[in-house]
Amino acid sequence: ADRVAIDDVSMVYDGSNGPVEALREVSFAVDPGEFVTIVGPSGCGKTTLFRIIAGLQTPTEGEVRLDGDVIDGPGPDLGIVFQEYHLFPWRTVSGNVGFGLEQDGTPAPERRERVEQLLETVGLDGFGDTHPKDLSGGMKQRVALARALAPDPDLLLMDEPFGAVDAQTKAKLQEELLDVWTETGKTVLFVTHDIEEAIKLGDRVVVMDREPGRVQEIVDIDLERPRS
Ligand code: ADP
Ligand code: ADP
Repeated sequence: ADRVAIDDVSMVYDGSNGPVEALREVSFAVDPGEFVTIVGPSGCGKTTLFRIIAGLQTPTEGEVRLDGDVIDGPGPDLGIVFQEYHLFPWRTVSGNVGFGLEQDGTPAPERRERVEQLLETVGLDGFGDTHPKDLSGGMKQRVALARALAPDPDLLLMDEPFGAVDAQTKAKLQEELLDVWTETGKTVLFVTHDIEEAIKLGDRVVVMDREPGRVQEIVDIDLERPRS
């Protein structure tokens, strides 16, 4: 029950040299449990589209619906992971992962259990009391992923999440993400400029055009991999 519908979304910014068309009539849908990647060159409108889907920005035209409801801001339905981690530096790993659960009033004992379980899922058991500054980039992104998964969101939204780590770590995190996806059955929307990554991870790849703001094509990737 977590179909995402991007419906005729257009975005025009008021640039200092006049209007900037960032998205033109973008439409596609993501089915429950699907892993869809959005790929395209710099400036094609990926970040704009991501922010609109996340409810962080209102499009000039069109709308995004999650299971029929218009998304109008970040909430417990969405788990969001950014390239730059955005962890709370004053909180421990557990404090970061448990943040959303505090927000939605999950009682402490249940919260602790869920945080433990999530740390295990992302391979960070034993790191609950560590602070983000003492973690590698890959580990920080695992914390961000666990935090995003904590409230059990309908949709996991990721914006270039592996853009800041080295190639070896990136390959490892990609495999781990696919494992998490298989295990949890989450719907995933993943933005990247890396075509290889888009093809490796996506069931379907939404290819955006160099001409800003347009979807060029949507490609089904014929992958033989286990589905949950
Ligand atoms: P991408 O993430 O694919 O690099 P963006 O969504 O960041 O693409 O940008 C798409 C287009 O919109 C670019 O031409 C960019 O310069 C423009 N743009 C993005 N944000 C703004 C803004 N706040 N004001 C004006 N133009 C913007
Ligand atoms: P990155 O995620 O940046 O690639 P790695 O996973 O390669 O980081 O780990 C970097 C270092 O952090 C490793 O050398 C290892 O000692 C430590 N480390 C990472 N994950 C764990 C873990 N689950 N348990 C113990 N040590 C870990």
